[in-house]
Amino acid sequence: MPFSKLGLSDPIVKAISELGYSAPTAIQEKAIPTVLTGRNLLAAAQTGTGKTASFVLPILQMLSDAQRKVRPKRVHALILTPTRELAVQVEKSIVQYSKHLSLNSLAMYGGVDSKYQKQKLIEGVDVLVATPGRLLDMCTQRAIHLDELEVVVLDEADRMLDMGFIEDINKIMDRTPVDAQSLLFSATLSPQVRSLAKTAVENPVEIAI
Ligand code: AMP
Repeated sequence: MPFSKLGLSDPIVKAISELGYSAPTAIQEKAIPTVLTGRNLLAAAQTGTGKTASFVLPILQMLSDAQRKVRPKRVHALILTPTRELAVQVEKSIVQYSKHLSLNSLAMYGGVDSKYQKQKLIEGVDVLVATPGRLLDMCTQRAIHLDELEVVVLDEADRMLDMGFIEDINKIMDRTPVDAQSLLFSATLSPQVRSLAKTAVENPVEIAI
């Protein structure tokens, strides 16, 4: 099945074909149309399956819809990742996939001065990729507001739990709008992941590949 049949717009299809992707992977074929319907998602998928594009592409599509009425200078999509390396990698994909759109993204993580990240937030970030600790810091400092979030992704949720981020994740979810769409990706759907999903991802479509 071609990418264009999944409901993605021309600027996005153009960007992915320029990257040499000829067809969607299994997770992309299942997840992209589901996310575009606005449903919450619980997905079991390992790294290397193309899972990043399976949530990034429909999010870009939803955020680039010209009919949307939004408050500018607020974050509209949040992707939580366990590590700085993954945050950087996911944000790099966002930049590539949004090449023909006008959306701003930022990777935000700890261990570095927050001045650059704060300046970027002031200028306006549509899609934020963040590690939980630094994001909470920025929330506490009122450098960021999550009240206009439309979609939240918990990427590699099992790793975030292994790293002890459960309390941070719960605090972050408490700050997001109750009606925001939520997507959880995990290599395995362990009892711990399912327990997190119960509170963070209401009534999801479940997919496994
Ligand atoms: P991920 O599982 O998200 O870490 O992606 C693994 C790798 O697959 C990345 O290098 C992507 O650029 C690449 N990739 C993702 N989707 C496709 C696709 N549909 N066709 C070819 N490569 C892809």
